[in-house]
Order: sequence, then C-alpha cells, then structure tokens
Amino acid sequence: MQLKGKIFHLTGKVQHYAWGGFKYIPSLLGTSNEGNKPCAEYWMGAHNSAPSVISDGENSIPLNEFIHQNPDLAITSAVYKRFGELPYLFKILDVNDMLSIQVHPTKEEAEKGFDAEEAAGIPINAPHRNYKDRNHKPEVMVALSEFWLLHGFKSQDALMQLLLEIKEFNILIALFKKESYKGLYQFVMELQQAEVDNLLAPLVKRELRRKANNELTKADAGWWVSKLFENDAPIKNIDRGVFSIYFFNIVQINPGEAIFQAAGIPHAYLEGQNVELMANSDNVLRGGLTPKHVDVPELMKHTLFKAVTPQVMKGDEIGNLEMGYPCPVPDFGIKKIVVNNNSYQTIATSLEIIIAIEGGAVVNGSNNLVLKQGGVIAVLPGEAYKIESSGKCVLYKAYVPA
Ligand SMILES: [Zn+2]
Repeated sequence: MQLKGKIFHLTGKVQHYAWGGFKYIPSLLGTSNEGNKPCAEYWMGAHNSAPSVISDGENSIPLNEFIHQNPDLAITSAVYKRFGELPYLFKILDVNDMLSIQVHPTKEEAEKGFDAEEAAGIPINAPHRNYKDRNHKPEVMVALSEFWLLHGFKSQDALMQLLLEIKEFNILIALFKKESYKGLYQFVMELQQAEVDNLLAPLVKRELRRKANNELTKADAGWWVSKLFENDAPIKNIDRGVFSIYFFNIVQINPGEAIFQAAGIPHAYLEGQNVELMANSDNVLRGGLTPKHVDVPELMKHTLFKAVTPQVMKGDEIGNLEMGYPCPVPDFGIKKIVVNNNSYQTIATSLEIIIAIEGGAVVNGSNNLVLKQGGVIAVLPGEAYKIESSGKCVLYKAYVPA
C-alpha cells in the first residue's frame, strides 16, 4: 500500500506492564483509561511485536510493513543496508513501581549469546532464554518529570562507607577489600535465600521504621527498599535485588536532563516519567526486583564491575530551536525541540519520529498536518518541513544519525 505525502500521523501502542502508572500516558494521549489498567509504556516504532501504525488521513499501515515494502523510501538504503530495519524504538515511560535491575550486552556479546542459545535449541520464548535477538540495547532517557534511577556501582569510598554504616553489611567489608566489586556482587547474588532473609530482614524492618518516621528521602536507598514492602508485603523471600539498591548510585534527573545507559552498566528505573530511546532489541539480563528469570553467571559476564560516575546530560543548545543529547551509538539520536511562537525548519535525514509532549503545532512539508499535544508524526527521509506554533510546543524527535 502507498500512502500520500511524506509526513504521516503515527499511532503508537500502550503497554500495560504492572509497574506503570494509571494517568500520565492516557492524559498525554488524550484518551481515557477505561479498564483502569496500568499504562507503563507508549511505543513509537516498528518493533514486530507492537508496531506503530502510520496514516495519511485516508489509509493506514503498520510501520514495520511500510518499511518492509519500501525500505529505501522509508529508512534510506544506507540504513537498510546497515541495520535491515528501523534501528531504534522510541517510548514514553510512566514508572510507578521500580523496574527490574538490568544489564544489556554489547553487540558482539549479544551475537555470541544469541547464536549459542539458538545452537542449544532453546526456544525464543522460553522463560530462561537470555537473548531474544542479535542486537545490543543501549538506551538514552530524557526526564519529563523529576526522575529517579539506579545507575552503576557507587564509588569505592561511598560503598565502603555504606558497608561500615549498615551493621548487617559489616561482614561484607573484608570481601570488598579483597575481591572488590565483582567478589562482593557475586557473593550476594549466590547467597542461599535463607541467608539473604537473615541478612536483610532486620535491615528492611529498620528502613520501614525510618521511613514511617520521615527520616528518609528519595536520595536514600532505604526509601526505595521501604517502598518495596509497603502495603504490608511479607518480609520473607526477600529479593536479592535489594542489595543493588544500596550498592548502586541513586540518581535524580530533572525535567529536560538525560542519561545514557551503555552496555554493561547495571541500572533500574525507580520512579517518574521519561522519554526513552533505544536500539531495537529485547536483550535484557536481569539482576533482581523481578519475578522473571535471573541467570547469575550470564549477568556476571556482562556487568561492568567498577565505580561509575553518572553523567547527567543537561542538553546542548545546538541552534535551530534544538537541544541535543549526544549518544555514542550509530542506532539513534534524540533532540528536544521547543517552538514558541516561531518556526522550526529542517530536512529529515532519516526516518524521524516526533512527539508533541506539551502544546500543539502545525507541520508543513509536501503535505500539511496538525499535531496535537500527545500526537506523533513520522517524517520520511529527505523531506523538508516546518513546525510552527502560535504558542509553546515542546517536542522530542528520534532519528538515525547520518
Ligand atoms: Zn535497560
């Protein structure tokens, strides 16, 4: 099927994962949440499991089919040759409950891991399957609200201080001195469940008391540990991911700021709303805070065991009403565009997906359309276009770097 024009309305797909909030995404999209389901993610892209649909106002087609039928027109022959598909997946996230602790493999390791699991005959949907594809999964996120996440191991000094301060962790000091991050992490990830409970139960109870007494803030690990046990969740079979809440950096990101998750950096989103852009992959190695499969040896193999200083990007003014957040990958780039009673003009160099987060605008190219708040457009490569607003409109754009 052919669509008319080169700028299309795009309708994404809401994912109802249990950790999602109930209001933010429906309110952004101007829809009602009639089933009162959690709305965790809004996917904009061509992922085969939940492709977006593009429309010229008369006809519509799933974006993955459109790309498949018109690869050169849709994503350029260079991108098609290199990636064979749209290399990015663009999302809005509303994190109500914290996500699992995770690490993503490098491209090289993903290829090896996928091929090994294929050779071993492990079905692609098996619960213990680690590699769903042969791709890496770098991610960048820009906060849309105050946003909290875990990101990489704390510095040596900060971690040592914590092991000293928390009496249940005193027994880990000698091990950390001798075997550093890897020895420490391996030890807690391989502990018997009864030992995990023995160590953590008194700590969890103390944190719950401190939170009830308003002695904790979101910058404290105890705040997030307490959150896991609110609603009177029983303090037994304690998820060993709790150790990571103490061992990793707790990072606060303000609206408009961004952070990049490179391969190997352990991370977990804790709370808030963001716009997220990632390589088109589903390769996640989990380290707890999840009922899903945790493969400790495989996780250990891909985790970066060193102190990480979180690099929060404030956004670079790059002119033309744009802010850039440089990402060291060929798969994707992200820009924030603010049009305020003026006009943004450019030529798309790849398939661009643009969402209006705040306010609306008019888009003029070889065809014209109105973009409402929460609306999304897809612009084909080579198209010259203008985004104009008589008021303020904040947009985020995903693209493939040249
Ligand atoms: Zn991740």
